[in-house]
Amino acid sequence: MTYDPSNIFGKILRGELPAHKVYEDDTALVMMDIFPQSRGHTLIVPKAASRNLLDADPATLAAVIPLVQRVARAAKAVTGADGVRVAQFNEAPAGQTVFHLHFHVIPAYDGVPLGAHAGGKADDAELIALAKDIAAAL
Ligand code: 5GP
Repeated sequence: MTYDPSNIFGKILRGELPAHKVYEDDTALVMMDIFPQSRGHTLIVPKAASRNLLDADPATLAAVIPLVQRVARAAKAVTGADGVRVAQFNEAPAGQTVFHLHFHVIPAYDGVPLGAHAGGKADDAELIALAKDIAAAL
């Protein structure tokens, strides 16, 4: 399988589609997931083109994991979550729906089951507020 630049995250990285951006540098974009599995569900998207972990350059992975850790800490602090799930899916049978490498940071709350993967759309105002708060806590 080869990388197809027409995927949604490729379009967001090129500025062709909007996003609730939390953070951006030369190597990665961090944004809110618009169909969150919990309050504060955030995505870390390396800018280098790869479908997923399987075809990624190890240098890309080495650069992005510290950012995943920063986002996990910030999202947990901002939301008051009791834990954080970090997830990453490779190809459709494993649950991948957008074929540009990304990592999920999903805050988890005591007694609250996580929502469905890519389920209901979140309220824009809430995503804007969360993006601002997580950015400030990074
Ligand atoms: P995957 O299933 O590929 O690991 O995750 C893709 C994620 O992207 C899902 O959690 C889904 O909710 C999210 N998603 C799908 N379309 C969009 C979009 O247009 N913008 C954002 N920010 N997230 C999206």
